[in-house]
Amino acid sequence: MAENTMFALVKAEPKAGLTLKEVPIPQTNPGEVKIKVLKSAICGTDLHIYNWDEWSQRTIKVPQIIGHEFVGEIVELGGGVTQYSLGDIVSGEGHIICKTCRNCMAGRLHLCKNTIGVGVNRDGCFAQYLVIPAENVVRLAPGIDLDIASCFDALGNAVHTALKFDLTGEDVLITGAGPIGIMAGIICRHIGAKKIAITDLNPYRLELAKNAVPDAYVVNPSEISLPDLMKKMDMTEGFDIGLEMSGSPRAFADMVDSMGNGGKIALLGILSGKTDINWDKVVFGGLTIQGIYGREMFDTWYKMMSMLQTGLDVSKIITHRFDFKDFEKGFEVMQSGESGKVVLNWA
Ligand code: NAD
Ligand code: ZN
Repeated sequence: MAENTMFALVKAEPKAGLTLKEVPIPQTNPGEVKIKVLKSAICGTDLHIYNWDEWSQRTIKVPQIIGHEFVGEIVELGGGVTQYSLGDIVSGEGHIICKTCRNCMAGRLHLCKNTIGVGVNRDGCFAQYLVIPAENVVRLAPGIDLDIASCFDALGNAVHTALKFDLTGEDVLITGAGPIGIMAGIICRHIGAKKIAITDLNPYRLELAKNAVPDAYVVNPSEISLPDLMKKMDMTEGFDIGLEMSGSPRAFADMVDSMGNGGKIALLGILSGKTDINWDKVVFGGLTIQGIYGREMFDTWYKMMSMLQTGLDVSKIITHRFDFKDFEKGFEVMQSGESGKVVLNWA
């Protein structure tokens, strides 16, 4: 392998699959840092790109290195970068913002209207080296496990959603026990929710949720209705907080119906535009529905690491680890639905 090249997973052609290729190591421009990727995690978005679905066809310009969940070591500092040192172990925010739009100027960086996605709109982290703006870098707090740090993007989604509303002492319904839904369940327990219910249709995911949040009511809604579940949970007035993490219109509609008056829903799952819900319940029940996108920059990152340093344990959510050369196995197991987070080792 030539000195200035690296291995990367490239969406090389406009069709399903990815190609492991030898490509040039990216240059580090002023204001950027070069990171030697140690581990990366596969996100549902990567699976969409792998499968070349309708959204990917509209969004991805080939050739493109994909991937946006990573942990690595800083190996080069671009001009003007003084806040980091060579050897720093870092993860990073995959949303690059414009710094000039209304929300950016107001400090609401996660609401930037011109967001550019690492591994979506520019080269990503499924590679031996990644270059991103220094402002997107987050240095790991001491003691944080590298496998967990490789999943920070997804864990950050869970933290952002779970912390949107005050759920201490409240009854919480989580729809969807994918990696993000289960991590949200662990967070709810960590921060003192009252009763937690988690739903999914997939037996593997239900089992994973039971293991990860032992005192949660983990159910398949095709086997027990939410009203029946609430009776089992000795609940009479509906859930206080809903975290929608399935993207299923049915799950969202059932969640709306199961909220208590004044209930609050944080909506992370990406729903189809035709999703139908009971609007009477929203209006007369005084519900709040809050969309969630990405992670707050950088309060979500701060709180995520603080919680990990004070006992939050999401290690059970990582179910598979592969060498990057075996990436096909990683995508296969993601595709099967019989996985939590899948981590690729690049070191
Ligand atoms: P995932 O696809 O791994 O998990 C979703 C889970 O929902 C699956 O286990 C599936 O079996 C389950 N499900 C499907 N229908 C259901 C139903 N009717 N009731 C209950 N569960 C049902 O996804 P993930 O990676 O954990 O992400 C969760 C959701 O968040 C996805 O919809 C994803 O697209 C979305 N997402 C949004 C953002 C954002 O910034 N808004 C970021 C990341 C992910
Ligand atoms: Zn902006």
